[in-house]
Amino acid sequence: MFIVALPTELLREIVWLYVFDTCLSDKDADTQTLLTKPPWVLIEPLTVASQRFRPLTLEAWFQTFTVRRPDWLLNLDAIPQVTTWARQVHCIDSDRALHQDDPPWNLCNFGHITKLRLDVDPIDFEYRVRFLNVPPTLHELQLCNHPELSPRVVKDIARVFPELRVLKLSQSTVWCGLCYTCNVPSFKAQPPSPLIYTNGNGLPIHYNSAWSSLKHLHTVQLTLGYELDGETSVDEENKNIWCGECDQCMSRMYPDEDFRMAWVHKKTSVLSRPPSLRRVEWRFKYLDLPVETVEAILDEAYENE
Ligand SMILES: [Zn+2]
Repeated sequence: MFIVALPTELLREIVWLYVFDTCLSDKDADTQTLLTKPPWVLIEPLTVASQRFRPLTLEAWFQTFTVRRPDWLLNLDAIPQVTTWARQVHCIDSDRALHQDDPPWNLCNFGHITKLRLDVDPIDFEYRVRFLNVPPTLHELQLCNHPELSPRVVKDIARVFPELRVLKLSQSTVWCGLCYTCNVPSFKAQPPSPLIYTNGNGLPIHYNSAWSSLKHLHTVQLTLGYELDGETSVDEENKNIWCGECDQCMSRMYPDEDFRMAWVHKKTSVLSRPPSLRRVEWRFKYLDLPVETVEAILDEAYENE
């Protein structure tokens, strides 16, 4: 009774605190595993508590609008207010059987969102990032599970999201600028995590080039898997300015000191890169993948080619 008698603005604060405190907010947690919104089962009791609670709770819960098919972004008759409430859209596209014939994701109804999260199928090596009517307010993109973030996909990001300020990528593999392949990083010892650059360095050389048109991009966070069967390491000194190079290239090419120095110089004197880039942050998550799992993923990928 006492709570319901409070002014609406205080009720709103209480409801929003409850809704967002039930989300994970651990800054050290892997961005991929962070919930974008609390489970409905935790929120539903508030919506039936009173007429005053219901709209406040729904508005808070729909700050993030989660969709699994492109048409969910367009068919909003059930709760049309979501287009004004939503500040983040979370597209879960993790089953390629569902999205093969789907049209692009169309954000025409979401002119106020500032963030977008896209979870893709981790074994769909051909996955392309396809969005229409991206609002200029969309400043942060989180892309999870892309199995092969090649320059082609990286260029898609720059073309589709020209106003990005913050980009968070979370996947198992990364592009090696020396052999032009995507690999799970492999080290001899656990790498420092996070590995942080604040001087404009730190991106794979082709990513720099592809994102050079993103004039506002200031922060890139990459969360990767890694294995411990490599011959090379990245330590705190990081004298090779590690930017995604694979263990095989480093172990084969870095013993040639002239080559190593020239490569490091090339990486630290790149002219074509995002002009506002201030922070590049690499985080590593140990992958204890059994060999048969890796082989099964590759077999399925080749079967579908
Ligand atoms: Zn390589």
